[in-house]
Amino acid sequence: MEKIRHPLRTNVGYFLNKPIGFSREFQVDFAQIFIEPDLNATNLKGTFSFSRTREGLLLQADLEADIDANCNRCLEPITVHVCADFEELYVFETRMKEELDEEEVPNDGYIELGVPFRDYLLLGLPLANTCSPDCRGICLDCGQNLNTGTCEHNHGIDYS
Ligand SMILES: [Zn+2]
Ligand SMILES: [Zn+2]
Repeated sequence: MEKIRHPLRTNVGYFLNKPIGFSREFQVDFAQIFIEPDLNATNLKGTFSFSRTREGLLLQADLEADIDANCNRCLEPITVHVCADFEELYVFETRMKEELDEEEVPNDGYIELGVPFRDYLLLGLPLANTCSPDCRGICLDCGQNLNTGTCEHNHGIDYS
């Protein structure tokens, strides 16, 4: 499937002249999307909003998606359902930039939402990310996937 570039680049320029408190909500619904540099997601759904604040723009997002990952044990590709519920403040210009480690509202008025979407979706991955709860993993000596076969090595591996 052809990769879709920059579908998450969003114009926020018109917010700059709006009063503090002005906000707008957007729907997200992508059957399949590739987020640079490495995230493949399907069924990316949810909402996000931008609100004009004194300092800049507050992004609030509530997303869910199925993302491509690999089983921690056997390394096979798997699909994991993740949720991401986050806020990110984009501040105007360099004002307060030194004290706050925040994103800036870009000068061209376009925010690349792929960056926070990717970061927070990946944060939603569970630490124990396995193809099944009883995945047998791979042989550390020869790399055999022990779900699909055996090898001559001793497999007293305890993952608990
Ligand atoms: Zn596995
Ligand atoms: Zn082996």
